[in-house]
Amino acid sequence: MTVATDTLAHRVERAQQLMEEEGIDLLMIGPSSDFRYLTGHAAHTSERLTALLLPWRGRGMIVVPRLEAPLIQDLADRFELVIWDETDSPTARVAEVARDTHAESVAVNDQLWSGFLLRLQKQLPTASYENGTDILSRLRAIKDETELALLREASRRTDEAWEDFCAHETVIGKTERQVGDRLKAVMAKHGMPEIAFCIVASGPNSASPHHYLSDRVIQAGDPIVFDFGGIHEGYFSDITRTPIAGEPSDEIVKVYNIVRQAQQAAFEAIKPGVACQEVDRAARKVITEAGYGEYFIHRLGHGIGLTGHEDPYLVEGNETPMEAGMVFSDEPGIYMAGKFGIRIEDTVVVTPTGAERYNHVTRDIVTLG
Ligand code: ZN
Ligand code: ZN
Ligand code: ZN
Repeated sequence: MTVATDTLAHRVERAQQLMEEEGIDLLMIGPSSDFRYLTGHAAHTSERLTALLLPWRGRGMIVVPRLEAPLIQDLADRFELVIWDETDSPTARVAEVARDTHAESVAVNDQLWSGFLLRLQKQLPTASYENGTDILSRLRAIKDETELALLREASRRTDEAWEDFCAHETVIGKTERQVGDRLKAVMAKHGMPEIAFCIVASGPNSASPHHYLSDRVIQAGDPIVFDFGGIHEGYFSDITRTPIAGEPSDEIVKVYNIVRQAQQAAFEAIKPGVACQEVDRAARKVITEAGYGEYFIHRLGHGIGLTGHEDPYLVEGNETPMEAGMVFSDEPGIYMAGKFGIRIEDTVVVTPTGAERYNHVTRDIVTLG
């Protein structure tokens, strides 16, 4: 599925509207998810500058080295191509465009390499420079229909892989790495060959939220945090389940149920108009009242789209109101250093009346052999 041309054109229009509101004359976007969002094309970063130059009105331009121009030929009917040769200074070409369009304020996105920006600032010293990422994040935080369909499908495939994995794989006596390799293979089998990340954190390692994979051998009684996701046509899935190898102890069952209730409480707090921080608070309240507040050491969640972590962040201090079409994770956890940790995470979409989960695999305690 390629993104429809009128959808892409609409995104560009919306970006230009926001630029006008913010008084930004020219937006310069380096290869990144922002570039892909606006052009439909995944450009790669290198020492040769490729960038989208979007004036606040009129046609956008794509600055591209001559040898890579063939890669973006299909964009030529929507954007003007500004092709530069090996002996040209690409940032001098950008400065030229800025002068031609009378751009006084130039905004750049976070992923534009600072080396290019520093050169441009020397070649165009009269312009003011702003952060363009804010505009793009505001736009991208609310997913359009195409994006929602791709995100839903990414989660659906990931759910299928997880059910297949739990039904057929054993973990006791294997290393985290071996188990992770199996999970990646099962993801590929279900149409998710591009893995974004795969955490398998067993026993005491489960208390480290971003532990990756190690050679620790999984033992009976270990909780195992599986936090993984793949990329489907540019869009990420992100899920965490914490099954137990063999029989769980009473303490594990107790902590597991608190995390599960917290995850549900947050889910029920989601609806348009509610501040992001309120949803974090809803989960934190359950965990704090159960006496484990000090062990919930990260924010509740993060936006998910063309990247794995983006706006909106569900964190204390974020007063942004939720809007239908926002997609983010709901992932509380309790981490007791030296002992164990539990996390449960779903990808969730805000609907006009509340919220819907994209992940439907069971949140009950699962035991693996
Ligand atoms: Zn994380
Ligand atoms: Zn995750
Ligand atoms: Zn996450």
